[in-house]
Amino acid sequence: MTRHYNFCAGPAALPAAVLERARSELLDFHGRGLSVMEMSHRSDDFIAIAERTEADLRQLLSIPSNYKVLFLQGGASMQFAMLPMNLLGKGGSANFIQTGIWGKKALGEAKRLGYSCHLAGSSEANGHVAVPEQHTLALSRDAAYLHYTSNETIGGLEFNYTPQAQCADGSVVPLVCDMSSNILSGPINVADFGVIYAGAQKNIGPAGLTLVIVRDDLLGNALPGTPSLFDYQLLAEAGSMVNTPPTYAWYLAGLVFQWLKDDMGGLDAMDVLNQRKADKLYAAIDASGFYSNPIAPPNRSRMNVPFVLADAALDKVFLNEADEAGLLNLQGHRSVGGMRASLYNAVTEEAVDALIAFMADFEQRRG
Ligand code: PMP
Repeated sequence: MTRHYNFCAGPAALPAAVLERARSELLDFHGRGLSVMEMSHRSDDFIAIAERTEADLRQLLSIPSNYKVLFLQGGASMQFAMLPMNLLGKGGSANFIQTGIWGKKALGEAKRLGYSCHLAGSSEANGHVAVPEQHTLALSRDAAYLHYTSNETIGGLEFNYTPQAQCADGSVVPLVCDMSSNILSGPINVADFGVIYAGAQKNIGPAGLTLVIVRDDLLGNALPGTPSLFDYQLLAEAGSMVNTPPTYAWYLAGLVFQWLKDDMGGLDAMDVLNQRKADKLYAAIDASGFYSNPIAPPNRSRMNVPFVLADAALDKVFLNEADEAGLLNLQGHRSVGGMRASLYNAVTEEAVDALIAFMADFEQRRG
């Protein structure tokens, strides 16, 4: 069996150690004679898995006790709708910072529900190559929260600071962040946020699970008539089990959290490793003269590295040869083209080194 180097943006690479552990427990979980996939979500065994998963995540991210952790379905995209329904109630409005496609979708979904949305900052004018600076943000006083995307997965644009959600009159609104593609890539201060959410399929586990971390005081304000499965308060009260949760994805996320804690040394260590991986690849791109990345260096994503070849006619050849060399899923997002290497936690430094060596060789032969 050969596992190739997988640079997919999501569903993304999972740690080999996690997949091996899952395989070893697949048919017979801890001598129970059945798979985690086949057990009731209300069974003692599954409740123990669920509780341990939450406890490990709380430890990894140092989540304060006044936050609930929800394990949901529907992807990050469903949160684009659940957030305004839960935080804006009837007729409220929200502030948004837009730095790319995902932030735009989040705003679009709030608008679709009839909420008014205020653009507090945008990188559109610079072509999404640099995030707006704090001093340029203009928050509307009437808007109940500030939403932003800490890492735009397609553009490869990452915030290098946590925005302050302060309005002109000094009042502060909750900060809401889509961390789908950079959660767990390093430590964060959860207390800076009202809500953090992320689809699992990049740094958490397989697709099908969505993580929401929400501060207690933001619960209980859902729009009247909100379906139970969309209501944070009801979901929190039911331990994310208003209905059957995605049990196997929850279990796998738990294995990823254990791997981060026990094998990788926690998020401080991941921070250092992720920085080193990204620095290497950007340095190789910048030094080449054949590959390029347009993002302002302080905002270059550590997780998603888009790059283009000097001659776009070689794109297909590059991708085919990379594939043959065991470097998978380097094609850029269909909306932008070019290449993209995603360097999530499970992508090893060895994989990055192999990519850099391949790129140098390709440039020498074809550039
Ligand atoms: N936000 C970001 C930053 C993303 O990268 C993605 C998916 N690539 C989404 C939201 C949408 O996630 P999902 O497919 O889980 O709805």
